[in-house]
Amino acid sequence: MTLLIRGGHIVNEGRIWEGDIVVEDGRIAELTPHSSLHTPHSTLHTPHSSLHTPHPYDSVIDATGCYVLPGVIDSHVHFREPGLTDKADIDSESRAAAAGGVTTYFDMPNTQPQTTTLEALDEKFQRAARHSHVNYSFFYGATNDNVDTFSQLPADRIPGVKLFMGSSTGNMLVDRQEVLERIFRTCKLPLMAHCEDTAIINRNMAEAKGAWGDDPPVSLHAMIRSEEACLSSTRKAVALAEKYGTRLHVAHVTTAEELDLFSPLTARHSPLITAEACVGYLLFTQLDHERLGAKIKVNPAIKTPVDQFMLRQALTDGRIATVATDHAPHLPAQKQGGCARAASGMPMIQFSLVSMLELVDQGVLTIQRLVELMCHHPARLFGVQQRGFLRPGYQADLVIVRPQTPWTVTPDVILSKCGWSPLEGHTFQWHIERTLCNGHTVYQNGQVDTSYIGQPVHFHHP
Ligand SMILES: [Zn+2]
Repeated sequence: MTLLIRGGHIVNEGRIWEGDIVVEDGRIAELTPHSSLHTPHSTLHTPHSSLHTPHPYDSVIDATGCYVLPGVIDSHVHFREPGLTDKADIDSESRAAAAGGVTTYFDMPNTQPQTTTLEALDEKFQRAARHSHVNYSFFYGATNDNVDTFSQLPADRIPGVKLFMGSSTGNMLVDRQEVLERIFRTCKLPLMAHCEDTAIINRNMAEAKGAWGDDPPVSLHAMIRSEEACLSSTRKAVALAEKYGTRLHVAHVTTAEELDLFSPLTARHSPLITAEACVGYLLFTQLDHERLGAKIKVNPAIKTPVDQFMLRQALTDGRIATVATDHAPHLPAQKQGGCARAASGMPMIQFSLVSMLELVDQGVLTIQRLVELMCHHPARLFGVQQRGFLRPGYQADLVIVRPQTPWTVTPDVILSKCGWSPLEGHTFQWHIERTLCNGHTVYQNGQVDTSYIGQPVHFHHP
């Protein structure tokens, strides 16, 4: 099967040019320029004559007026399967992913059962092979007593190990110093850490309850899950990684102060310790609790406008290496109440790419940088094989987006099982026209091809 995607503005590896992409049997066969838009001296070879002669392709997609990007790799999602499937499942959330231009996701281990045994990990792969409509892999979860299993992990099938360092999420808290030392010493795969200091949070919560009663108002969330709690825990993780030479990726950095702990990821330099930003922290500030209540209650808490400003700056200066979603659906009833009662986490995967494209329109980052943060860097940092870039021989995971096409988030467009979004009522200017996964159109015209099943991702860890 051959496919020609013609006439789009292709964004890849720091450049934008107008050209064609030829796909053969699910892989990119050729990238050819029409004319060079932003790089007058293109190094690619000259255009072929496909536009002017009868073409030999089985199908042709006209991307004129659109941008063609590598499919997004979302390296931080919670699809809730198995065990929490009233909130979400692999089938529903991978549909939302396809509709959002996300062609690959890495799911987190705080499910029921937790993904903290080799059997539970295997079970997730089996479920995804039946139900996932885009490509997939799964983090393994570290606990207080499973470090011995790290040596048996299938390194070519998983992105790494997830560590909840002083977080209450899903009862996977690891905060015993000697266990943390063992984890950082033993883990040879990338270690992704959620960093919040539980002792500080507990102290702040007790104070808030003393003043406000059993369920303090959600506007206090960022004071309870405070900057100090984040900084203290992130500092500890960074120190341990430096001590043991562990490859550490700190999940969802939320404060300006933490950013100083990271050195920039550049084309030539991959630091041992890198940081992730999640879309919600780039879109909202703690002041938005006034408007959105507990809908945007997430852990760590969304912080101040200054923190948001600094996080946005770090997208471009390299201290933020990847942008993911921390897509974490809960049912509407579970999002009621204040700091103690309302569940933490929100859905985001269906609207992450269009949200980031909106930040491009606002001048926060360039579209080339967006592609680095959401596609190239997740592939590079986790050792993803043959995805995340538009290159000959790579899997044809790509998304076609059209600018200046306003549409509004309404409940009927939401594909996540929970059925709500903090972005309801928001009008986006960018529209996801089509998502291709392994050369197959998995999403177009508002429809997901649910007969399609994605592939397990392969990894090569250096
Ligand atoms: Zn998470």
